[in-house]
Amino acid sequence: MLFSELGLSAKVLSAVEATGYTTPTPIQEQAIPHALQRRDVLGIAQTGTGKTAGFVLPMLTLLEQGRARARMPRSLILEPTRELAAQVAESFTKYGLDQKLNVALLIGGMSFGDQDRKIDRGADVLIATPGRLLDHFERGKLLMTGVEILVIDEADRMLDMGFIPDIERICKMLPFTRQTLFFSATMPPEITRLTEQFLQNPVRVEVARASSAAQTVEQRLVATHKEDWEKRETLRRLIRAESDITNAIIFCNRKIDVASLFRSLSRHGFSVGALHGDMDQPSRTAMLHNFRENKIQLLVASDVAARGLDIPAVSHVFNFDVPIHSEDYVHRIGRTGRAGRSGKAFTLVSRADGKYLDAIQKMLGNDLEWLDGTTVEQLPTPDPSSEDRSDRHGRRSGGGSRRGGSGRGGERRHSGRGEGRGANRHEARPIETEEADAVPSAAPATVPSRRAAPSARSHDAHARSGRGQQRHHDEPSPLGFGDDVPAFMLIGTGL
Ligand code: AMP
Repeated sequence: MLFSELGLSAKVLSAVEATGYTTPTPIQEQAIPHALQRRDVLGIAQTGTGKTAGFVLPMLTLLEQGRARARMPRSLILEPTRELAAQVAESFTKYGLDQKLNVALLIGGMSFGDQDRKIDRGADVLIATPGRLLDHFERGKLLMTGVEILVIDEADRMLDMGFIPDIERICKMLPFTRQTLFFSATMPPEITRLTEQFLQNPVRVEVARASSAAQTVEQRLVATHKEDWEKRETLRRLIRAESDITNAIIFCNRKIDVASLFRSLSRHGFSVGALHGDMDQPSRTAMLHNFRENKIQLLVASDVAARGLDIPAVSHVFNFDVPIHSEDYVHRIGRTGRAGRSGKAFTLVSRADGKYLDAIQKMLGNDLEWLDGTTVEQLPTPDPSSEDRSDRHGRRSGGGSRRGGSGRGGERRHSGRGEGRGANRHEARPIETEEADAVPSAAPATVPSRRAAPSARSHDAHARSGRGQQRHHDEPSPLGFGDDVPAFMLIGTGL
């Protein structure tokens, strides 16, 4: 099927053409014609299926006629996170090229003043997180009686985040005659109840069930011991062994682990950033921007922060922790293998994770393969002499002598990322790594351009030499934040 057969307007079709997309994805093919007929749609689809365009394109077509009035938005899109809301706004910019629609983004962490002005001007499309929308409503700034189209996106995520009462409240504020487009990756009972309450005779469109969602993703389990320092070492080995990583997301279950893994990886010379729910909005936005622009290669993230993010070309996903909720596994690996691309997902599994792994495999309906066939039961007892003790505590000791000036042939090495790109403070700067004196004089050109990681060989040589306990005094400047490292990352444990 072609986009031109879906019933979209000429303006929208030319914007789609400009993006280079040639054929609609299954969710687009199935949802768009019904949405254009003003039917309610219940779309069961996860991110990566093209569902955003599945509602943005018909909305653009339907909103072409008519004008918004002050404080009376014509359509409303609810998103669980600020990032998702911002991404949907970007989609309107991308696909709404030839249209003069006013799009207002109401998200936390930004000033009310600017948002008020946008609402006052009359918004054709209001994209909001539930809390901020209600704040505006309660301040008397919004009249919801003109809403013709409501989109509820990532409803199961809204449920996880406790937003369902807010959603119910918002739905009751809207005209009964509105059209509702409702999307969720899964349909737990609370979500089914919500759809029964607020959708009218919806067309049900379902694509890529959880078990089949990840067909383009090569998935492997990686046996590891359960201590964090061992997991970190296993992860580093894994990253170094994967020669085809363009960029990767590394998931942790807890935000405290996001921070310590970020510190550890940056100490080890990787090009890394971090993303979790406690970061303020400018930091999150800067981090995502740098990741999208390939200024950082690895992004350590929590589920809440990463759910639904549109990062089109992630080559790898690493689960540092087995997710506690099996559905999160699908969402995590959905970060790679998107829109038909292939991808790889590795999950570190220790003996302690058996219960969670069982739940994931049960949900998928099949057993996942172990990397190199080594199961967690077959894992050899760890050799204490080969451990990287520095990482046992998640941060370097302050007392190590500074080796920067006395090694062999150049202890400073460049990250290899952003070389020669000018003085943008977010771009890679020379950093010192504890492996520095194990590598030949760090000519940046010898480091693969997109990888800040030292080679496995140099790392192993370093580990064998037993020098791992002597550390630099300074933390390397973490890439992606530049000088703006949030306070939470600089402190030992207290998040
Ligand atoms: P989504 O599921 O909306 O997060 O979209 C996943 C990715 O697929 C995004 O990077 C979209 O830009 C991309 N995409 C959306 N529609 C298409 C299409 N018809 N063909 C190829 N890629 C698409």
